[in-house]
Amino acid sequence: MTSTVVRDSVAAARTGREPGTIAIIGGGASGALTARAIARNSAWRTVLISPESRPGRGVAYGPAEEWHLLNSRAAAMSADSTDPQHLLRWCRERGMTADAASFLPRPVYGDYLADQFASAAGSRLSHHRATAIGVRPDGPGYVVTDDTDSEIRAEHLVLALGNPPPCVPSAVSAEARSDVAFVADPWAPGALDAVPADQPVLLLGTGLTAIDVALTLTRDPWGVPIEALSRRGLLPRAHPHVPAPAVDLEIEATESLAPLIRRLRRAVADGAHWSAVIDHVRTKADRLWAGLDAAARERFLRHAQRYWEVHRHRMAPPIAARIAELHATGAFQPRSGRITSIEPDPRGGLLVHVEGEQPKRYGGVITCTGPGPLPCSAGPLLADLLDDGLLRTGPHGLGIDTDENGQARPGLWLVGPLRRGHLWESTAVPEIRSQAERLAAALPLPAEHHLR
Ligand SMILES: Cc1cc2nc3c(=O)[nH]c(=O)nc-3n(C[C@H](O)[C@H](O)[C@H](O)COP(=O)(O)OP(=O)(O)OC[C@H]3O[C@@H](n4cnc5c(N)ncnc54)[C@H](O)[C@@H]3O)c2cc1C
Repeated sequence: MTSTVVRDSVAAARTGREPGTIAIIGGGASGALTARAIARNSAWRTVLISPESRPGRGVAYGPAEEWHLLNSRAAAMSADSTDPQHLLRWCRERGMTADAASFLPRPVYGDYLADQFASAAGSRLSHHRATAIGVRPDGPGYVVTDDTDSEIRAEHLVLALGNPPPCVPSAVSAEARSDVAFVADPWAPGALDAVPADQPVLLLGTGLTAIDVALTLTRDPWGVPIEALSRRGLLPRAHPHVPAPAVDLEIEATESLAPLIRRLRRAVADGAHWSAVIDHVRTKADRLWAGLDAAARERFLRHAQRYWEVHRHRMAPPIAARIAELHATGAFQPRSGRITSIEPDPRGGLLVHVEGEQPKRYGGVITCTGPGPLPCSAGPLLADLLDDGLLRTGPHGLGIDTDENGQARPGLWLVGPLRRGHLWESTAVPEIRSQAERLAAALPLPAEHHLR
């Protein structure tokens, strides 16, 4: 984005504190939706800092291919909570057939988000293409330094950095971590390019990331089976082909775990579809999570989280069908097990020991365990902010400590997955959208506005 307006706006923020400047670091769904909400709801000038050419796509909707489908129906994915039809209208205007129950291709959704950012951009919203490398407090605001040697000064700073990368399991030796056969982060650009198609591959994890990686590797004929291993070997469930009728259960915010699970099972036994029960609980998940004490949360994380996730984070039916086909032919082999060590093999590749099994050599081992805990999984910018004391790790190391609007300290805000911990649901678009809208509403008026 190089219009004069944009250059002027970024230049204004560089030269000294302009009254009413907000900087957003991160150009995925969280950054783009926050920028859009601020542009629509306030008089702030906003500069979004991210390295991508078109903000909006991020990790989830950027590098995807046409056959990568959303995990949610189109009805849930509008950029605007007050206009649930917005995405469907956008699709129809472009000649696409889609209805509320459709699972759209992820690149289409990425285009939609990028379009939302582009149409909100103008005199009050600009994109500065760079990677932020430092943040320091500056009076009542912040200065962001980046890899283009710019300094952006802003009164408010929003961090929309996405998920922390996965945590490398402790069973992986230091030598194995630096081996070419080991992929620490499957979402890193080009991470899967060097995985050999003619040698066994092991995915660490059996959730949606493992599903995505298995589909990506098998898009072209793949020579050997892809194994996927997790403690319980559970795969995500599939969405029903037709959305199940909604259910309405009376759930107390302070309900404790075991009776709640019993009640949910009873609702299913009484005829409710399990997916509708889960969808209903999801709407109350943050309040339920907030109502649990620390010990109950730990119990949930240890014993129930995985079961929640496989029901909550579901596959679109065509994805589930493809996985079932790969499973049936033996091309994809999910199973349970506990890895005790992963070491480089002198013959090349990695030697994996699974408890109670003979060691086996793999040409590629790919971490598909989802976001790692903080602070150990923090990327460089986040790690510096934690070290400098500008941010604190939140409950259970799931995210960053913030108040209910996402403010970590005066003028420093977070949106998106890093808010997990205080919130339970903080990674999907409906929740990100509402965080963005709430942040925009919670901002004070810019200083220049007061002066008018
Ligand atoms: C494969 C996949 C499929 C999904 N499908 C769905 C779905 O169907 N429905 C749903 O509701 N949710 C889905 N989600 C979840 C959700 O939409 C994503 O988690 C969400 O897109 C997160 O967006 P984000 O902007 O927070 O993070 P990201 O997309 O990770 O974006 C982070 C951004 O921060 C930038 N950044 C990081 N560090 C810096 C820095 N130092 N300086 C500048 N920029 C920086 C990155 O370049 C990037 O632009 C999916 C997630 C994944 C991974």
